[in-house]
Amino acid sequence: MGLWIYLDGKFVSEKQAKISVFDHGLLYGDGVFEGLRTYNGKVFRLMEHIKRLYKSAKAIMLEIPVSMEEMADIIIKTIRKNKLKDSYVRVVVTRGVGDLGLDPKKCPKPTIFVIASKIKLYPEEFYKKGLSVVTVATRRNLTESLNPAIKSLNYLNNILAKIEATNAGAMEGLLLNNEGYVAECTGENIFIVNENNLYTPPISAGALDGITRDAVIQIAKEMGLNVREKLLTRYDLYNADECFLTGTAAEIIPVSVIDGRTIGSGSIGTTTKKIRERFHQLTETEGTPI
Ligand code: PMP
Repeated sequence: MGLWIYLDGKFVSEKQAKISVFDHGLLYGDGVFEGLRTYNGKVFRLMEHIKRLYKSAKAIMLEIPVSMEEMADIIIKTIRKNKLKDSYVRVVVTRGVGDLGLDPKKCPKPTIFVIASKIKLYPEEFYKKGLSVVTVATRRNLTESLNPAIKSLNYLNNILAKIEATNAGAMEGLLLNNEGYVAECTGENIFIVNENNLYTPPISAGALDGITRDAVIQIAKEMGLNVREKLLTRYDLYNADECFLTGTAAEIIPVSVIDGRTIGSGSIGTTTKKIRERFHQLTETEGTPI
């Protein structure tokens, strides 16, 4: 029968869930979004995702016409309506319908829609054997141009990087910032492990302030690892004991090859494995009930 989609105050069927060709989200990528997951009937870090959505909106001067509490309610109701216990939820707020010019002032009402569905980014086997990653020529957006901390609908930078990675026969692309430091992958943050140390680039290096990243930092500290946000070069990655990526959709996935160099043992490392296990304990136990 298909999914029920929340669209501007109503639940409509998947087939009826249509937006205008004059919506600036479509015409210009003018809007913001979030991707959340539910595990075992609970939304993982719901308020963190909502806060990030409103921060992204503030940065692009988009006033979301519902409060954060109302947004939380809309998300929960959409998941309930689709009777999903384990799901992936996409929340989108666009600038709304305007004319063919760029001016956001001519878009009086933002469009809001929420899709509660499922996602599987990578086949299960890669969570053990790890991904092959290549550095792409496309650099992460300049902070001064389109700050990567904004989760905007304009994902062409990431998509171009994904195309390059696929063309090179790799599963994921590593983006460097304009100074040549490691920023992140196309839809995930990156971490390396060296002995008892866990390193990840700071947000200012051109990474999204990932919710999974945050959970991993918390878990690693509880495990007694030294966690440091640090500028990383490709050399640091090539010589790491372990490397993994984090994201809501991908969760925690090991990296076994970067630019042809085998990382550590060439499959999931012991620390990555422990962090993954603890992460799944967290996702099973904490969260906002649906
Ligand atoms: N970086 C980018 C570019 C992303 O799109 C995502 C996915 N939201 C992430 C990192 C990971 O963030 P999170 O853990 O909050 O999903």
